Amino acid sequence: MIEHSKNITESAGSKKFFSRGDIIMRQGEKGLNAYIIETGKVEIIVKLEDGQERAVGTRGAGAMIGEMAIIDDAPRTATIKVIEDCVLLEITKDDFSRRLDNADPVLKMTTQVILTRYRDTLIRANIAGDIKNRPPPEVSERQHAQYSDAVENITIANEFKTALDSDELFLHYQPIVSLKDSAVLGFEALMRWQHPEKGFISPAIFIPIAEESDLILQASDWALRESCAALRRLEQRTGFNSDLFMSVNFTSRDFASEGFVNAVYETLSVSNIKPQQLHIEITERMLMDQPETARETLKMCKEAGIDISIDDFGTGYSSLSYLQYFPIGTLKIDRSFVMDMHKNEGSMALVKSIIALGKNMGMKIIAEGVEEEKEALTLREMGCDMAQGYYFAKPMAEKDLTGFMINSDKIKF
Ligand code: C2E
Ligand code: CA
Ligand code: CA
Repeated sequence: MIEHSKNITESAGSKKFFSRGDIIMRQGEKGLNAYIIETGKVEIIVKLEDGQERAVGTRGAGAMIGEMAIIDDAPRTATIKVIEDCVLLEITKDDFSRRLDNADPVLKMTTQVILTRYRDTLIRANIAGDIKNRPPPEVSERQHAQYSDAVENITIANEFKTALDSDELFLHYQPIVSLKDSAVLGFEALMRWQHPEKGFISPAIFIPIAEESDLILQASDWALRESCAALRRLEQRTGFNSDLFMSVNFTSRDFASEGFVNAVYETLSVSNIKPQQLHIEITERMLMDQPETARETLKMCKEAGIDISIDDFGTGYSSLSYLQYFPIGTLKIDRSFVMDMHKNEGSMALVKSIIALGKNMGMKIIAEGVEEEKEALTLREMGCDMAQGYYFAKPMAEKDLTGFMINSDKIKF
């Protein structure tokens, strides 16, 4: 069997057997499945307008047959007859639709566009008999929505590429404070995009799109270099030769990229900040994407003295055993639990449990999304180490950091 069909066949459905002379599918019938030929050979026969049948080709091991009808609801465009006994792997329309529904919007749109064009070509070539007079398949409203999502994603990805090379991207820094004495301990670097026509675009929109391609690598690398340089500038401007840290968000794609660890080392050396001053943030979901690669990368970072923080803790993975598998130094409690803490006993219990869990494992805990004094006070009572949120400070531009630090002794609660 040819190589490219291996992965498909591994996930395909049941096997079907056909003997020489059997008809696998007939032109004009509704198609509810496609097949991959494991062994054997088939002939493709098309009925012409004058009623005559003509063999237009054969297919053997590794080929897919009947694929068009499972993508749209149109009838089979050819009859397929067994010329050597066949073992076929079946792919049902239901299974295929489920996969397509879960696919990346760009992939989905491309599949549908290719299919529509192919059908169009078939019709023009007039080899598909009576389907010639059928009007082109209507694009449903749902398809329209998917098309526009795909178009929007492609547009944003292209524009983000331009933004990376211009000054449309910048970073904001959100202070992270000690709950013990409200001292500022560090910052989280958060990306901002000021689009020349569309205005501010949220990272919640452009980061997931950048993550779908290698664009995220360039973006993360830029954020790392820029935020470390900004931390160093802040130290120099304020005269604080402190141990302030900079927490930078990364994705599984970053960890899997070959030059990641070296780029981190190089950035530390160029910006002249200590490894202990860099914190790497990653979500549970990202860690689980490629756990072995992530572990290797993080181990090297940890050995160099860099802290690893789990972002949005509590929202992702269901098994906690991974906490032992990775060299994690800090848990960041997701803001949804913190914001709900005083409204919902369950959230309060969860926050308490996360703090206890982290402490028992020798980790530091940061509560995210602290908006009210009473949340800060409760978290302090529970033994949470640090907090971040609008109550203390919103993410701010680099130019505002100096003033903020000079007045930071005024943060009291
Ligand atoms: P995140 O890593 O969980 O970042 C924290 C988000 O919570 C930020 O949203 C921040 O502005 C917001 N936040 C902080 N305090 C409060 C609060 O008290 N209340 C509320 N309601 N929100 C608060 P932002 O900046 O919009 O970023 C959204 C997400 O985009 C981030 O979530 C992160 O997942 C991603 N992101 C941002 N910058 C980067 C980056 O440089 N690299 C990567 N990979 N992802 C990034
Ligand atoms: Ca984060
Ligand atoms: Ca977070």
